[in-house]
Amino acid sequence: MVAAHDVLVVGAGVSGVSCARAVAAGGRGVQVLDRARGVGGRCATHRLLGMPFDHGVSFLHGRDPDYLAAIRAACPRRIEGWPRRVRGTGRPCQPEAFRAGEERFAVVDGVTTFPRQLASGLQIRTGARVEALDLSGPLPAALLEGGEAVRARHLVLALAPEQVLRLLDGTPDLPRPLSAIRALLENSASEPSLSLCAAYPEGTPAPEWDAWYPEDSRALQYLGNESGKREDAPFVGLVIQAQPAWARRRLDDPDWPAALLAEAARVAGDWAGRPSSTHAHRWEFARSDLASELAGPVLVRLPAGGSVGICGDRFAPGGGVEAAWISGRELGRRLAAPEVA
Ligand SMILES: Cc1cc2nc3c(=O)[nH]c(=O)nc-3n(C[C@H](O)[C@H](O)[C@H](O)COP(=O)(O)OP(=O)(O)OC[C@H]3O[C@@H](n4cnc5c(N)ncnc54)[C@H](O)[C@@H]3O)c2cc1C
Repeated sequence: MVAAHDVLVVGAGVSGVSCARAVAAGGRGVQVLDRARGVGGRCATHRLLGMPFDHGVSFLHGRDPDYLAAIRAACPRRIEGWPRRVRGTGRPCQPEAFRAGEERFAVVDGVTTFPRQLASGLQIRTGARVEALDLSGPLPAALLEGGEAVRARHLVLALAPEQVLRLLDGTPDLPRPLSAIRALLENSASEPSLSLCAAYPEGTPAPEWDAWYPEDSRALQYLGNESGKREDAPFVGLVIQAQPAWARRRLDDPDWPAALLAEAARVAGDWAGRPSSTHAHRWEFARSDLASELAGPVLVRLPAGGSVGICGDRFAPGGGVEAAWISGRELGRRLAAPEVA
């Protein structure tokens, strides 16, 4: 049987496109599938009234020199050092962002510019949800909604760990090494998040801060001054993110946006509770639980032929976008190496 591609990557978040880029750079054929309409995954930007709002990860940060160089190459329109004006002493979404030696960036056109640029030139099929895997034949396959099987010599899962688990759980006769990986992944849980983009009426004064991490709120983790990242922002815009424990309790509560706005008003002033327009987003899996991160991506040879690789933000130290990028690149290079390919 002939595979259409050497490598099939499921997931076009930062880890998936980073992996695919490294495979393509090694001269191998690669296709990427994603269930969403566009690429980027949790590195997400939503346009509200024409202005970009980063409603997943809010800014990029890291210290790996290659990662920093990749950001600078992909995002020429960026603000180095953002956020500079930080208020509050609450726990940031990713405390590493503020370690000594860490570099931070806002992306003027939205953080999704980074994965989009990494994806340019790659063969990416969006709107393709993988429902199950078939690892029984000589080539592994991703089974799409609707029944189509996409086969390749090497199948990469570049997803949140819980999403990997769902696919492995639905796979009959899981090979033993993958059962072991499954057990490792089961031992950890991503934190959820609830994120509200809020646009404010004309005349609202621009906040005098870039980021605010309130120290006294059970509901609110982060207020981000989105308009402070944009050139000629047409209005004041905030991203308002919930504390993980609060988000876990409220994930299925339709009233969470109103409750979060009320808390934003208590913390930042009445104006923050009175947006003219909002967009709410629910992240079931937002950030990895750092206590259970793995040191690198996984590559498992299948008894029937081919292999399965797993990368993503759990598969490199530190978590977050940097870990996603590093783990994807490492796995992609491995898959392009002569002894594996
Ligand atoms: C609110 C929030 C705040 C954050 N803050 C920070 C921060 O401050 N610092 C930091 O570094 N990181 C932060 N992160 C985490 C960071 O965004 C992620 O770690 C990183 O983007 C993960 O990349 P990934 O490629 O591993 O996974 P993802 O971005 O989740 O990519 C997975 C892709 O797989 C697709 N997919 C899922 N299931 C299927 C399926 N069955 N079939 C086909 N496609 C599928 C998804 O659509 C998605 O595009 C934050 C995230 C959120 C949501």
